Amino acid sequence: MERVHNFSAGPSVLPVSVLEKAQKELLNFEGSGMSVMEMSHRSKVYMDIIAQTEATLREIMAIPNNYKVMFLQGGASMQFSMIPMNLSKNGIADYVNTGQWATKAIEEGSRYTKINLVASSEDKNFNYIPEFDKSKFSKDADFFHISQNNTIFGTRFTELPDTGNVPLVSDMSSNILSEVFDVSKFGMIYAGAQKNMGPAGVVVVIMREDLITGETLPNTPLMLNYKTHADNDSMYNTPPTFGIYLAGLVYKWVKELGGVAAMQKINEEKAALLYDYLDESSMFSATVGKKDRSLMNITYVTGNKDLDDKFVKEAEKAGMVNLKGYRSVGGMRASTYNALPIESVKALVEFMKKFEMENK
Ligand SMILES: *Cc1c(COP(=O)(O)O)cnc(C)c1O
Repeated sequence: MERVHNFSAGPSVLPVSVLEKAQKELLNFEGSGMSVMEMSHRSKVYMDIIAQTEATLREIMAIPNNYKVMFLQGGASMQFSMIPMNLSKNGIADYVNTGQWATKAIEEGSRYTKINLVASSEDKNFNYIPEFDKSKFSKDADFFHISQNNTIFGTRFTELPDTGNVPLVSDMSSNILSEVFDVSKFGMIYAGAQKNMGPAGVVVVIMREDLITGETLPNTPLMLNYKTHADNDSMYNTPPTFGIYLAGLVYKWVKELGGVAAMQKINEEKAALLYDYLDESSMFSATVGKKDRSLMNITYVTGNKDLDDKFVKEAEKAGMVNLKGYRSVGGMRASTYNALPIESVKALVEFMKKFEMENK
């Protein structure tokens, strides 16, 4: 069977060469006589895998030396509570609400700290990134949280808020490695692996060392204390060994393609192909204005629910799958993560043109 054009928002498409390498190494990893899944996480062969994975990520993201990299579990959603449990000192934090994941982060955060809602785009069903009024930032905030790319609503921050000395904490689950980011601008970055880095089950945390104090809110489990994991190089307990190995293969793949800058160029090309067509089509239109458009999750509608459904069905028959938009937005969403080949976007645009002709 042929592989499909997979526009899934997550878990998502992985590079074929990565899957093939994992397949080739599945029964006997580099002469060890066993699969990565079957070896002790404390064996030399596995220690080399995790060290290499971290080193490649540090290289492709140019992560400064005063940042720790941790491979954790519990998904990006676990970070919604881990962050306030670890960073709350003054008991107030700034949050921006730009979509469903940001809403969940706020909901969870409010169980541990006072929340100052700096800005929100809820008034227009999150179809834009709000402007910031700096007078609304709290001076004594413990951190400032953003959801940098909004997977469901198809928006992204193209500029970061200037938070001064307040650490900027960013949920990059759906845009990590998609564009070049200056890590030193952030106190902390976190991302579930299953969108742009590998299989579900791993969450990557990149955290400035001075924020890893070990001082937490009372009764915080040791497992939810960043220091536990930082001090043990993500080996306090059994880490998600196979997922980390696969993420390492993806990082190598990004590096071999020319790094994140090269990735960004391809992503911009892919997104432009689809957005340009959406802007000229008389049937389809993008749900997000030009300034705030995501490079990774492209949301669009026909304006007619039945026609949307017909499109999604016929696209699937033509080998283009997972195009149905999230229920709170409706319409369609094409996720164009790093591993989605440009050929898939070209096929989609051709198919949309044909569909538009046939359904005028
Ligand atoms: C998918 C996603 C999450 C949730 O990730 P889990 O690993 O399922 O907890 C959080 N934030 C963003 C931006 C996402 O895209």
